[in-house]
Amino acid sequence: MNLLLKLLNLLRKRILVTSRRHYQWPLAAPLDFPRVVHIENTNACPARCVMCSMDSMSRKVGIMDFALFERLIGECAGRAEVREVHLHGFGEPLVDKDLARKVALAKRLGIPFTYIVTNAFLLTEQASYELIRAGLDGIKFSFYGMTRETYEKVHRHLHFEKTVQNIERFFQMRDRLKAPNPLVRFQFCPDLAGPEELPLFFQKWRPYLDADRGDLFYTTGLHNWAGGKDYAALKVPEHLRHCAWPFMHMQILWDGRVIPCVFDYNGTVALGDVTHDTIEEIWRSPRYESFREIWRQKRSASVPICAKCDDPDGIFHPRPVDAALQPTARRVIPQANARSRRLRFAFQDIRRDVKLELKYRNRLT
Ligand code: SF4
Repeated sequence: MNLLLKLLNLLRKRILVTSRRHYQWPLAAPLDFPRVVHIENTNACPARCVMCSMDSMSRKVGIMDFALFERLIGECAGRAEVREVHLHGFGEPLVDKDLARKVALAKRLGIPFTYIVTNAFLLTEQASYELIRAGLDGIKFSFYGMTRETYEKVHRHLHFEKTVQNIERFFQMRDRLKAPNPLVRFQFCPDLAGPEELPLFFQKWRPYLDADRGDLFYTTGLHNWAGGKDYAALKVPEHLRHCAWPFMHMQILWDGRVIPCVFDYNGTVALGDVTHDTIEEIWRSPRYESFREIWRQKRSASVPICAKCDDPDGIFHPRPVDAALQPTARRVIPQANARSRRLRFAFQDIRRDVKLELKYRNRLT
């Protein structure tokens, strides 16, 4: 069984590598629909973390109506291209009391992977229970500080002990419910908390994470928030820069406006509005296509947010964590189930990858 899984994963990686080439091809036709749809359920956040541009956000704060979300998720559910729906944007998703209901709807309609990123400060016992039962597939905890002093200096307005307790209780509940999901991406930022706290991070959280469920540790660097911060000088020259966002992802704000990516925290680049048009209409619109054309023609510096963005430099991508430090299998969920679940997902992924790959090849030749 394990050998079969490894072979399936190798095959999938191979397909993904070839299919990723589609957006590096200057003349490639875009996807008919985004692969990853990011729906900002809210841009409210109780924290003012030092690395975040929340202080500079001047757009109106709000929460997406359930009815609008329902329409969007209905459209996503009918599309084979959609791999993931992220229920967050620039804000703390747990502020939205309807979050679990939105996740449950997405799962009921067949969205393959639902995901949120959270600081876990509002992850109460009830919120944990509801999200796990709703079928949330993945959750990322951003947790930057292993002492109260460091943590509260980074995550201003949050409380260290409360967040720790919330996360511990979330893991315990997931075990108690023997829920295979959500898998956890547990992220630390040594640049903020200091590299000396990194071993404490692994030591504290490793016993809670579970390789069977696909949990992983991540570390991350600091990034410029497309000009909202100024952490890194750009290193990659224009002719080598490439951004996957306009070709594969769509970011929808809570009020329905569509922007190129989550880093455009003030919504400066308007690409459409889902309160007037469908996701597909916006994705295939001349306005979206002209934004892609800027990238194909290597003119990203002409867009103010992109000119200052270090995402194409790879800054935002998680850094690899030594495999020996990654979580081990904890055998909390029955092994047979865990394996058959992974096998089922591996087959589903390959089926989707092959379908998309064939589609691109047909269109490019
Ligand atoms: S370069 Fe940065 S700001 Fe521009 S679309 Fe890509 S991720 Fe967004």
